[in-house]
Amino acid sequence: MLGQMMHRPLSVIEILKFASENHKSAEIVSVRTEGDIHRYSYAQAFERVAQMAHALGRMGIASGDRVATLAWNGYRHFELYYAISGIGAVCHTINPRLSAEQMIYIIQHADDQVLFVDTTFVPIIAALRSQLPQGLRCVVMTDRAHMPDSDLDLLCYEDLIADCPKTYDWPEVDENTACGLCYTSGTTGNPKGALYSHRSTVLHAMSLCISLGRFLQEGTRVLPVVPLFHVNAWGLPYGAPLAGASLIFPGGALDGPSVYKLMDEERVNSAWGVPTVWLGLQAEIAAKGRNPNGFSSVVVGGSAAPRSMIEKFEKSGVSVCHAWGMTEMSPVGTHGILPADMIATKSLSERLDLQQYQGRRVFGVDLKVVDENGESLPHDGTSVGELYVRGNAIISGYFDNEAATAEAFDSEGWFGTGDIAVIRPDGFLSIQDRAKDLIKSGGEWISSIDLENVVMSHPMVANCAVIAVAHPKWDERPLLVIVPAGQEHVSKAEIDDLLLQHVAKWQLPDAIEFVDELPLTATGKVSKLTLRQKFANYMLPDMK
Ligand code: AMP
Repeated sequence: MLGQMMHRPLSVIEILKFASENHKSAEIVSVRTEGDIHRYSYAQAFERVAQMAHALGRMGIASGDRVATLAWNGYRHFELYYAISGIGAVCHTINPRLSAEQMIYIIQHADDQVLFVDTTFVPIIAALRSQLPQGLRCVVMTDRAHMPDSDLDLLCYEDLIADCPKTYDWPEVDENTACGLCYTSGTTGNPKGALYSHRSTVLHAMSLCISLGRFLQEGTRVLPVVPLFHVNAWGLPYGAPLAGASLIFPGGALDGPSVYKLMDEERVNSAWGVPTVWLGLQAEIAAKGRNPNGFSSVVVGGSAAPRSMIEKFEKSGVSVCHAWGMTEMSPVGTHGILPADMIATKSLSERLDLQQYQGRRVFGVDLKVVDENGESLPHDGTSVGELYVRGNAIISGYFDNEAATAEAFDSEGWFGTGDIAVIRPDGFLSIQDRAKDLIKSGGEWISSIDLENVVMSHPMVANCAVIAVAHPKWDERPLLVIVPAGQEHVSKAEIDDLLLQHVAKWQLPDAIEFVDELPLTATGKVSKLTLRQKFANYMLPDMK
């Protein structure tokens, strides 16, 4: 027997409509490419979103068309998220840090009709012009006064919307209609597209508000350092208006001092981003001798958060949520906010032990860990295997890519994450490594994340990465690459002593190399691929 309830399709534009009516005191603050700060309410955003929807219609954009963005975190980018999806088209966010080759590939693969671009990225478009599709129109996200000098045929965002009505008769779209498109990056081969639907996006936003509710409430001021150009800034452009939180968009200045200043002046409570960004912020906090005004929580994900980073935040009164997810999952899969009873009863050291885990699943995500034969392993805290996921905000295939789709799922339809993990009986997930980043030494696995975590706690280490280098006897051995915190280089003996408190002797890195900085991927994570290429022919001491 079926239930007798109305079916109202879940729709992205309903989130902003709701916020515009119900969250009057929340605001969106943006550091603009024009050099100043812009602020307005969700109600004002909703009006400009309606104007942009009209403008898109005038440009001939129809349901299902792909409209691309190449932009920082700011209010115009936010408006495009809603205007494009609101008319039934698909907002394709492009990561400006992709290589030219990858960018051309995804623009062509997505068949983008229009490209919205921040002034900062106009030179990228100029450089690529001969390879861009003929009919692609470019709109610069600024006003007439700030339009760049260029011989490209460029349209101006503010001109486009200037005389458009501030209301729009939003169409009712099927909830399974695509609303967003984001390509994975940092992997070898061509990027693969995750095509989000209205339904998956709204469910993900609701799940985010529930699971991370302590950090995302009415009145909270949230800083998404995580970019709108990659996996929907972890769902914040949807979750924040739903919850009634304010959004503080940082624009392009993501270094420690700039982030600190913005947080301090705008009294940001909750800041979300990858560990590399927080290393910069923590250095600035140390230099200033105090936390930014109002700072009370941080969400860190995208790659493993070192224990030392979590400890510094927690000791200064900033609660840390260590989260895990991926582009294909909208992206949030797990969150590390500790249950209230654990916060009340566990010591700091016990809590830190747990916070190194990537947390528990959010509602709507199922997790399983499997062995090489695809058999499920127990959630016993010790069985290690590949992590598979399923849920209603997880891709069912890659956009227009049968080959990649065929490889990604098991026979029961679960998606293979490529992460190696352990799950405890209480649901806490520990990501041991990317399958391809694990180091296989004499048939045994060494987790690069485990070693990095310990090394990061040494005061003479600013950042580090562990990679596999080929070894004639052991197959692979770990090489530790360190960015020193000062002039002095820490000795191998000292690092070994530190590591031996946590790992077995055979897991110690065979050598240390010092570098000025680590290569980053387009999403700000340490690029192990680039490092492995750099040290491809590395001679370990016992090979010389
Ligand atoms: P992306 O699709 O670019 O968001 O990358 C997803 C991948 O980032 C995951 O499959 C993990 O390998 C990695 N990742 C994300 N969050 C974490 C985390 N908290 N700890 C360790 N790895 C993470």
